Amino acid sequence: MGDAAAECTIKVVCRFRPLNSAEVARGDQYIPKFKGDDCVLIGGKPYYFDRVFQSKTTQEEFYNAVAQKIVKDVLEGYNGTIFAYGQTSSGKTHTMEGKLHDPEMMGIIPRIVQDIFNYIYSMDENLEFHIKVSYFEIYLDKIRDLLDVSKTNLPVHEDKNRVPYVKGCTERFVCTPEEVMEAIDEGKNNRSVAVTNMNEHSSRSHSIFLINIKQENSKTEQKLTGKLYLVDLAGSEKVGKTGAEGTVLDEAKMINKSLSALGIVISALAEGSSYIPYRDSKMTRILQDSLGGNCRTTMVICCSPSAYNDAETRSTLLFGQRAKTIKNQVSMNVELTAEQWKSKWEKEKEKNKTLRNTVNWLENELNRWRSGESVPVDEQFDKEKAKEEVQALESTHHNDKTPPKPALNSLPGVKLTDAEKEKYEAEMAKLYKELDDKDDEINQQSQLVETLKQQMLDQEELLASSRRDHDTLQTELNRLLAENEASKEEVKEVLQALEELAVNYDQKSQEVENKTKEFEALSEELNEKSSSLASIDSELQKLKEMTNHQKKRVTEMMSSLLKDLAEIGIAVGSNDIKQQESSGLIDEEFTVARLYISKMKSEVKTMVKRSKLLESTQTETTQKLDQTESELTACQLRISQQEAKIKSLTESLQNVEQKKRQLEENVDSLSEEIVRIRAQEKVNAMEKENEIQSANEVKEAVEKQIQTHREAHQKQISNLRDELDAKEKLITELQDLNQQIMLEQERLRVEHEKLKAADQEKSRQLEELTVQQDRREQARQDLKGLEETVARELQTLHNLRRLFVQDLSTRLKKNAQMNSEDTESSAAQKQKISFLENNLEQLTRVHKQLVRDNNDLRSEIPKMEKRLRATAERVKALETALKEAKENAARDRKRYQQEVERIKDAVKPKNMGRRGSAQIAKPIRPGQLPGAPINFSVNRSNLIQNNHPTGIKGGGGGNNSP
Ligand code: ADP
Ligand code: MG
Repeated sequence: MGDAAAECTIKVVCRFRPLNSAEVARGDQYIPKFKGDDCVLIGGKPYYFDRVFQSKTTQEEFYNAVAQKIVKDVLEGYNGTIFAYGQTSSGKTHTMEGKLHDPEMMGIIPRIVQDIFNYIYSMDENLEFHIKVSYFEIYLDKIRDLLDVSKTNLPVHEDKNRVPYVKGCTERFVCTPEEVMEAIDEGKNNRSVAVTNMNEHSSRSHSIFLINIKQENSKTEQKLTGKLYLVDLAGSEKVGKTGAEGTVLDEAKMINKSLSALGIVISALAEGSSYIPYRDSKMTRILQDSLGGNCRTTMVICCSPSAYNDAETRSTLLFGQRAKTIKNQVSMNVELTAEQWKSKWEKEKEKNKTLRNTVNWLENELNRWRSGESVPVDEQFDKEKAKEEVQALESTHHNDKTPPKPALNSLPGVKLTDAEKEKYEAEMAKLYKELDDKDDEINQQSQLVETLKQQMLDQEELLASSRRDHDTLQTELNRLLAENEASKEEVKEVLQALEELAVNYDQKSQEVENKTKEFEALSEELNEKSSSLASIDSELQKLKEMTNHQKKRVTEMMSSLLKDLAEIGIAVGSNDIKQQESSGLIDEEFTVARLYISKMKSEVKTMVKRSKLLESTQTETTQKLDQTESELTACQLRISQQEAKIKSLTESLQNVEQKKRQLEENVDSLSEEIVRIRAQEKVNAMEKENEIQSANEVKEAVEKQIQTHREAHQKQISNLRDELDAKEKLITELQDLNQQIMLEQERLRVEHEKLKAADQEKSRQLEELTVQQDRREQARQDLKGLEETVARELQTLHNLRRLFVQDLSTRLKKNAQMNSEDTESSAAQKQKISFLENNLEQLTRVHKQLVRDNNDLRSEIPKMEKRLRATAERVKALETALKEAKENAARDRKRYQQEVERIKDAVKPKNMGRRGSAQIAKPIRPGQLPGAPINFSVNRSNLIQNNHPTGIKGGGGGNNSP
């Protein structure tokens, strides 16, 4: 072993946090007063510590003053512990962890980690380090591994040096600070998982981070180990204050248990009591070495400065003062080399020899005293000298790794002999061993329980998730069904709308056709009108010509008359002949016109007659149609009657069949009876052999009976068969009839269809005819107008003629007197011309009207076309909508299937197991920055690795091997 154990007290420092925002807002008083750097006054009462840190102390300052030295200690083979004690939110976690990844606000743990590695990199390159970390929490006196959540209730065992350790705790080998930080992050993460209220949980559980450093000097083969515990204790406040009630109260007892056990242990140690109840809680047990054992321990007392927390702060400070008195025995943890063991053995042998000498001396002296001799002083045993001698020997190789064992005989009121003491100690060791074993068992059981719970939870979750999946699928399905239904409905609607549109379209096209037809008719009419106009024009022209001609002739006549008159003047003779000639010409014209008119009249008459005829034929056809329809309905009625009849007949047929079956059953039963009777008969015959005669008679009678039975039965069957045949025949007949009726119905329907078509054709013709009729009517009216005009014209002509004759006669008369003025006739002519021009104007107006009408119709056509186009577009839009709806439905179905696949896939891997991997110890050598310089260190490290192929060691999750 190593050097002699050095005695040292626990170092206790006190740290006050600043007032937090809530306290400031509340206006809390800041109560601590600081005196020097080791005293704080609360309410005037001084409390002394190794150091007192004021609220403004930075993380770095605190670390440098309190924790930095511990790195060196641990790397030199000493154990170290840093506790943070204080009420909740007094700054324990802030001190231990701080903000883990913030260079300024990080607490002790991350800084220690960084420093350890920095220190290692600067050390002798012959040293090889193995660093492993563990992270666990103690909640309700159960140890939960934070690096492997499946370990929930780990036991505490003692190693061969009787140092307690957490058995089965995960030990992660690390070789860079980043790996350590990763482990911490993982542990913290695991801590918050599975906890409902993290704040409450963290204030009631102790979290312990353990860094275990083993180093080996490849030259001297010296091995050193150092363990560093970094403990963030549960809140020290009385649980009552945090308001724990009900179910939590049980927990509260347990929480108090571990913390009050700590208090008791510390009190016992402070009082110097010989029995220290480490075994009262898991925590005190684990930290047994840190409290009065082989460890350099620092306790950080965290306090709130608020007046509100006055009482807690005081009790915390008192606790710290008590802890300050605890003395630890610190020694280096060295594993000796063979040579060192040898020298140690030599020394022990030496010591043994001295002691034996002393015993001999004492025995001699005792014997001398007993025999009544008084031994002179200089021959008496010198206690002091012997002690010195032994101590001199001891001091070179004292290594008391074991903590001060509770000495039984030092218990008050107990006095034991050596043998008893040994016996009891052995007994106690046995009992402790048993206790540990039980602990182990408990742990196994609880682990089993935990795994089972986990499994159950998994299963439940699986169930819940599949149920959820099922529900969602169901709802999805329902939704899809509803959607499908809706789209079906929509499709139906769309189809209906399409149908309507088609019908509409047909109607419209029909209308358009009609309109075009009308238009054609109108344009034809227009043509006719314009042609008639042209003819009238030409007529007018002719008339003008005629009037011109007549004027000319009149002038000619006048001139000739004048000439004649002159001649008459010269020689009064008869010139009546010429006058008679001209009047005869006009008469001729009249007759021609009249002839025309009469011709027109007759034509009109024939037209009217024809239209009447057509009307009568139409009424006839409609009558016929009605008749056919009524016939059709009658036929349908008949068909339905026939169908009803068929139904009733099939029913009766079924009845008959049933009857037949019954009868067959009857037959079967009867035949059975026969067989039975026969069998009985036989038995009877056998039994009564002596009564054969009578038996024969009976048999005969029975047979006869059977015969009659059979006959009756057969008759019945044949009757039934006949009946059946008759029914079948009837059925076939009825079927034939039905067929016929159906055929007839079909025929009637076809006929009906034909008649309908004919009816349509007829109505169309009728329409055409009415149109023609209308046109004729108009033509007739036009003609009448024309006639009137002609008549009027004739009348005017007549008047003209009369005027002319009068004029002529007056002129003749005047001529007789003297050829006076003839201006009047020219005025009359002017009047006539204006009349004709009027007429012409009227005609042009009519023409214009017609042209306008035509234009109107023409303008209507594009409107119609537009409407038609809009309808077609609507149809197209509806079609695309339909298509889209169908596509949507298909897509939805596809998506749904995919979803199902996905869920199936997702459910599968859930059942797979969890990961598990072995840990590999990674040796770290000084002078070698991880993942850094490749230059000189490469060769060297290769060399070293060749020399030490055992660089890879150990496995994760194994036992602590001190
Ligand atoms: P505990 O772990 O004791 O319950 P915390 O460490 O969580 O308390 O501290 C409570 C709050 O007070 C945290 O928000 C922390 O940041 C803050 N705090 C604690 N100590 C200090 C300090 N010395 N300086 C600044 N803030 C602090
Ligand atoms: Mg905390």
